[in-house]
Amino acid sequence: MESSFEHTFMPLTSTSNGEGLAYRPDIFCYPVQIVNVCFIGDPERKEDGWVLVDAGMPRSAARIIKAAEERFETAPEAIILTHGHFDHVGAIMELIEHWNVPVYAHKLELPYLTGEADYPPGDPTVNGGLVSEMSPFFPHDGIDLDDRVKPLPKDGSVPGLPGWKYIHTPGHTPGHISLFRGKDGTLIAGDAFVTVKQESLYKVMTQEQEINGPPKYFTTDWIQAEQSVKKLAALQPYLAITGHGEPMFGESLKANLKLLSDKFQEIAVPEHGRFVDGIVH
Ligand SMILES: [Zn+2]
Ligand SMILES: [Zn+2]
Repeated sequence: MESSFEHTFMPLTSTSNGEGLAYRPDIFCYPVQIVNVCFIGDPERKEDGWVLVDAGMPRSAARIIKAAEERFETAPEAIILTHGHFDHVGAIMELIEHWNVPVYAHKLELPYLTGEADYPPGDPTVNGGLVSEMSPFFPHDGIDLDDRVKPLPKDGSVPGLPGWKYIHTPGHTPGHISLFRGKDGTLIAGDAFVTVKQESLYKVMTQEQEINGPPKYFTTDWIQAEQSVKKLAALQPYLAITGHGEPMFGESLKANLKLLSDKFQEIAVPEHGRFVDGIVH
């Protein structure tokens, strides 16, 4: 198992870096530089176990392990990946070596997680911000987890997470998923939409809240991305934890998600870019 970027360090950090917060007794959101990972499980009910969603930035494994073991003292039942971009799988190699746990992802994401395919490089020509301009330098090659990664069950259930289902939300990547718990309307949206203007370095640093579609520089299918946001809006979530930005909830989430869903073309889709102009599809 090799990863070409596990030793890459990205000099990107938001102001909320490293201060995890619980948004429900069993939902803990832990920011790692510019991306969120999520610990699902109630530390008061350790016997039920817990699950890690996404695996942070490169070189963040030690911090994720420390935060997780302070909360749970045990290894997770599984690691669920919303998708395989470098900022969501950055620490995965060290985490599975440390914990020896299975990783699950959508079957359409598996080629990028088993060394068969690479994502296209980030597109600097999408309108909006320094992060987009830096994006061609972000790692975009797939990683090879070999047989450590398995496809999620076909019935929509999520291993280790009874009461949750996964929803295929492609567009940002082919096998992107979100996780939803109907009982209390908790949504983990990955990069299907985000609550920060991820293309803007200033806004990534300050984490100013603002609903947006998926990060533009990496999103390859805008038609699917719009359908995915509409699918998530129809679930009427109460709390959304997104891959980037601070969690959004209640009336603010309801209003913002409706706005994004209704005006997706204006808010989310770049005016131009490689993935909009038809050069890459
Ligand atoms: Zn992504
Ligand atoms: Zn991301």
